[in-house]
Order: sequence, then C-alpha cells, then structure tokens
Amino acid sequence: MAIATSEQTVVDAVPHQLYIGGEWRDGGAGTLPVEDPATGETLCEIADATNADADAALQAAHDTFQDFRNMAPRERGDILRRAYDLIMERQDDLALLMTLEMGKPIPESKAEIVYAANFFRWYSEEAVRINGRYSINENGKGRVLTMKQPIGPCVFITPWNFPLAMGTRKVGPAIAAGCTMVVKPAKQTPLSMLAMAQILEEAGLPGGVCNIITAKSSGAIMEPLIKDPRTRKLSFTGSTEVGRTLIAQSADQVLKVSMELGGNAPFLIFEDADLDLAVEGAMLAKMRNTGEACTSANRFHVHEAVAGEFAERLAERMGSLKVGRGTEDGVQVGPLIDDDQRGKVEELVEDARSKGAKVVVGGERSDGAGYFYKPTVLGDIPDGARMLSEEIFGPVAPVKGFESEDEAIAAANNTEYGLVAYVFTRDINRAFRVIESLETGMIGFNQGMVSNAGAPFGGVKQSGFGREGGPEGIEEYLETKYVAMNLGTEPVSP
Ligand code: NAP
Repeated sequence: MAIATSEQTVVDAVPHQLYIGGEWRDGGAGTLPVEDPATGETLCEIADATNADADAALQAAHDTFQDFRNMAPRERGDILRRAYDLIMERQDDLALLMTLEMGKPIPESKAEIVYAANFFRWYSEEAVRINGRYSINENGKGRVLTMKQPIGPCVFITPWNFPLAMGTRKVGPAIAAGCTMVVKPAKQTPLSMLAMAQILEEAGLPGGVCNIITAKSSGAIMEPLIKDPRTRKLSFTGSTEVGRTLIAQSADQVLKVSMELGGNAPFLIFEDADLDLAVEGAMLAKMRNTGEACTSANRFHVHEAVAGEFAERLAERMGSLKVGRGTEDGVQVGPLIDDDQRGKVEELVEDARSKGAKVVVGGERSDGAGYFYKPTVLGDIPDGARMLSEEIFGPVAPVKGFESEDEAIAAANNTEYGLVAYVFTRDINRAFRVIESLETGMIGFNQGMVSNAGAPFGGVKQSGFGREGGPEGIEEYLETKYVAMNLGTEPVSP
C-alpha cells in the first residue's frame, strides 16, 4: 500500500538529517529507513550518524553552554513558550507524523502532543523560578548561601513508545535550567524529535543548544559520549536492561544520571471499588498506547468477589475496540511497533495458556499486513505465568484473583520493578494503608493514568531513579553550590 500524498507531505516537511550546531547535515554513515508499523512500508530514510558526527554534536553542546547558561531566564522561558504555541498550532500535522512512525491512532497521537507540549509550557514558567537560599549560620555569625546552577551539556536517549513526550520531558527542563544537549531518539521513531528541533529553532533557540543525532548502532554511537568528560548529565528513558548497561558506562566519569526504566504495574481492585470506574480506569491503563507504555497496567489483581464480573466487563469493552491503521477514522487500537514486539506478546500469552490461563477475549494476532495483535483478556492466571513478572508491552490484560488485602499488597510488590500501581477502592482508610505499602514511585488512585507535566514522574527499585515533570523535574538539571560566608572581620574557627 503506497503512502497517501497528504501523509508524504507531512513526512517530507521534517528534515531527515542530523541537527548539529544549528545546522542540518547528512550522517557520515549514510541513511537508515523509518517504517510505518501499520503497513511495514518505508516512510523515508533518515541520517545514520558516525562517531565523528556524535562527537561534533557533543562539541556543539559544549561550545554553546557558556553563552546559553547566561541567557536571561525570561528569554529561555519565552523560547519554550513559543515552542509550546507552535506545537499546539501544528498538532494535526504532528499527530499524523507520529501516527505514521509509531502506529498509535490519531486521537492518541494528539493526546501525546498536548502532553508533550505541556512540558514546554510548564518549564517556560519554571525558568524564572530557579532560586537559592540565604540563611544565618546556627552560631549567629556566618551566613549560608546556596545557588542553583545549570549542570552543563546533557545526553538524552529516548524510546519509541512516546516519540515526542519522552523528549520534551527532558528538553523542556534542561532548556529552562540553561543546559545544552545532545538528543538521540529511537531509530524506529526519530521524526517527532526532528520536528521538535525544527520548532525550537523557529521559536528562537540558539543553534548548538539542542542537537539531534539519529543512528543505526545506538550502543556504539552513545558509549563514547557517555564516557566523555564534556558530558555532565545522562538522562535515559527505555528498558531496564539497556539502563543497566548505561549506568555501568556512566560510572567511568561518575556521571549524574536519571533513569526512567521499565515497569510492571499492578492494578488492584478491591471488593468495595466502584466497578464502573475500575473498568474505565482499566481501559485507560491497559489500552493507552496499545499497552506499549511503561505505565501500562501489566496485571490486574482483583478481589475474588468481583474478579469474574470485572473480567467479563473488561473483555466486552476490549473485544469491541476497532483495531486498524491509526490514520483511519474510528480506529482505537493501532499496531505494535514491530514484529519482535508482537512475537514477545505472543510468547507471553502462549506461556500463560500452556500453564492454565483461560482466554476470555482475543488471544491472537490479526491477519494481514502490519504488526497487529487483538485486545486480549486472560483469566485464571497461574502463579508461574511469565507475564506476572515480565513487561508485556501489548494489549493483553491478565486477571488474577485475591482474597485479602495483605495478599493483594504482597502480589503487587512481588516484582523487581516499581514504577506505578493503580488502586481502586471506596474505603479511604484502606486506600492509604495500601498506597503507603506499595513499592512504587507513583500511584493512580481510582484513576487509570498518572502522566501530568506538573507532577514528578519516576520509579523506584529497577524502574530507575530521578523524576521528570513538576518542580522536581528541573532539579535534575541543576547543581547546588553552597558558599560559606564570613561577613565579620574575625577569622572563622572550628
Ligand atoms: P530500549 O530498547 O531500552 O531503547 C531505548 C533507547 O535506547 C532507544 O533510543 C535505543 O536506541 C537506545 N539504546 C538501545 N540500546 C542502547 C545502548 N546499548 N546504548 C545506548 N542507547 C541504546 O527501549 P525501547 O524498547 O525503545 O522502549 C521501551 C522501554 O522503555 C520499556 O521497557 C518501557 O517501560 C520503557 N519506558 C520507560 C518510561 C519511563 O518513564 N519509566 C517511559 C517510556 C518507556 P535504538 O532503538 O535506536 O537502538
């Protein structure tokens, strides 16, 4: 199936080159293809960077840092605000671009674009609120002065599942703080980040502040940058497996790192929950982004009294969703990102079935081109099913019963991950007991979504460390300097 003219126009409107020092240039290693996951066809070729290109990008970030850190905070904020406005003005084209490269339906792409743009708006407001502290020493003599300063050139590595938001979540606070950066998006979905660079340029961001490189061999290209003393901060969003490798690489120069890694979110429904609310929340937590989100509900732990009814109602809703190419009207579920990802989902479903799980709805791939998998609900999940401990990253909802609150909490925490959990109950005392016992960085209480530019997003345990969004998000790009001040004429003694 050939790409439509309007689609080609949107793809062609974005430069397919590297963006280094404010210039668009070809990659030294040639090009690599970007595919439409709904058809398997090539959308365009983008630049493939060499190590020399990556080094030039870091050098540009390094050379620009001293000037950029001194730009007036209001000016940095204004650039972000203009970029926010431009993204919002162009959200239809950006949504089509995102759907073409990533597969999610247009309404979901639009929702991501608004979410992504909000990081620019939020941090346009934070740029002018970077404060220090001044206090009197406890002995009444000296003074304590602290100041916040930008950390320096950053390296950002982002995944394919939220092609724009996972970038703006880092780029927004970094610009607000006065940092420069090299961004490497995932090779499956580079176009949204290239469009972002184009918009930032138009919004007045000086060349060299935000450099974008795309590459086939991400490991070989990024390792030297992570080990380079010009780099002062690494922020990575992606799998725990790759995160571990990058943490090891960053040890070389004791690099400050943020890690937004994988998840295995438990979704807890107690017997007193509002089941209508729980089904709505489950649809959002499971089906947003076709289940390809770190925050996706990976397993539903439901009290035995309501587990059967919940599974039936969820299956009815999941089974009626329209699956198809994300550009088509009315489509609610797009394809998975590639054949490997679909293969992994199939493997996890087969594993659960072979151990005794029952398919309530779905349970197989869709026929035809593209990497589609039918929305699936599985009941009677046995303890040993791999999907209870592994990230599914697809439209599959395993439902498992529990009998007591303690059992539910223990099951929820029985994972090395700790990103997010969802809790549905009408009992406020129970809610607090459970919320305080859950080992996660975030909780959705009677709601199936936590993402919000104004709130600190991040995990504990092997879901990583560091926070993105909210006032906490800018701290990742600031160092605290403390000055011990002697205001008198006497020397300080211990
Ligand atoms: P991934 O395979 O870890 O890739 C993420 C990024 O790292 C991509 O840009 C990838 O580039 C790059 N990369 C891969 N290997 C690398 C290496 N050795 N050195 C340097 N860079 C390397 O993850 P993914 O499959 O794209 O994304 C899905 C994962 O991200 C899931 O586990 C999900 O839970 C997690 N995630 C977490 C959050 C969060 O905020 N906690 C948000 C979204 C997603 P190439 O793909 O181009 O090779």
